[in-house]
Amino acid sequence: MTTLSVIVPVYNEQDSLTELATGILAHIPDDIELVQLLFVDDGSTDDSFDVLRALCKEHPVIGAIRLPVNRGKAEALDVGFRHAMGDIVITMDADLQDDPAEIPRFIDKLSEGYDLVSGWKGARQDPWHKTWPSKLFNAVVARVFKIPLRDFNCGFKAYRRRLVDQLSLYGELHRYIPVLAHSEGATMVDLPVQHHPRRHGQSKYGAGRLFKGFLDMLTVLVTTRFLKRPLHLFGGVGLIFAFAGGAILIYLAALWIGGLRPIGNRPLLFYGMAFLILGVQIVSLGIVAELFLKFNHRREKPVTSVMLGCVKEHSG
Ligand code: UDP
Ligand code: MG
Repeated sequence: MTTLSVIVPVYNEQDSLTELATGILAHIPDDIELVQLLFVDDGSTDDSFDVLRALCKEHPVIGAIRLPVNRGKAEALDVGFRHAMGDIVITMDADLQDDPAEIPRFIDKLSEGYDLVSGWKGARQDPWHKTWPSKLFNAVVARVFKIPLRDFNCGFKAYRRRLVDQLSLYGELHRYIPVLAHSEGATMVDLPVQHHPRRHGQSKYGAGRLFKGFLDMLTVLVTTRFLKRPLHLFGGVGLIFAFAGGAILIYLAALWIGGLRPIGNRPLLFYGMAFLILGVQIVSLGIVAELFLKFNHRREKPVTSVMLGCVKEHSG
């Protein structure tokens, strides 16, 4: 029988937890064994953990982990992932905006062979100052990373365990889970879901999230594309500066030789020098990064034979 873990990050959601837990337990399909409903209390300052403690006593399948301080949704999810036991892992928000009745649809979709099924809040029930930035964010991320999903940040997702074991979330990278999964070779699809307005408590994310979200895009771009070849990034940018600086200095040298001196007081000279120095420094950063990489990247075991006639999954 396929086993399922449901993971719920919680930050000050005391009034929603009991109804949510009851809803989840009531909507597990008969052919699926729920092995854990795990709440990760992300340093709540209200009575969330007391409510969770009571739920754990009542239902042996419910577990709760308490983080000593608020570390953010991404780290709460990461802690949950590290403890996940099921073949399938479902994550959902704790505020009843995601509907537990949709759990069977996620499981059905995942059984079509995908590694990740990501909820798509088509008609999102949030104020405009949350939905508009979110639309912009989704459009840009989909285009930059060439991933055909319509909603990256939906908390309602279903994963195969293999994928969960490979993901490492920190900071606010929960918004980029599909991008990180894609870089691990995961197959994915989105699934339209109902979205309810928040009934209790407050949203933890304001308008500033758009700005932070785009900064995180830089982190994700760099870490997914250049983690193992930093010189391609630093070298590329550095050489552009160095060539620009070199070209400016050659041009000024030609003027000087041609008799159009003095050039010592021309702003262009300072730009040329600054670009050249900056370019060389950026390239050097890339070389240092490559040295670190080489130092850390030692193969543990020498490859001594190639196994012929059988197929081996390589996870590294
Ligand atoms: N959350 C969390 N840690 C945080 C902020 C939020 O675990 O620092 C949880 C929160 O309790 C909820 C989910 O993440 O279960 C989504 O948060 P929220 O509903 O505030 O986000 P929104 O739906 O407004 O985007
Ligand atoms: Mg919410």
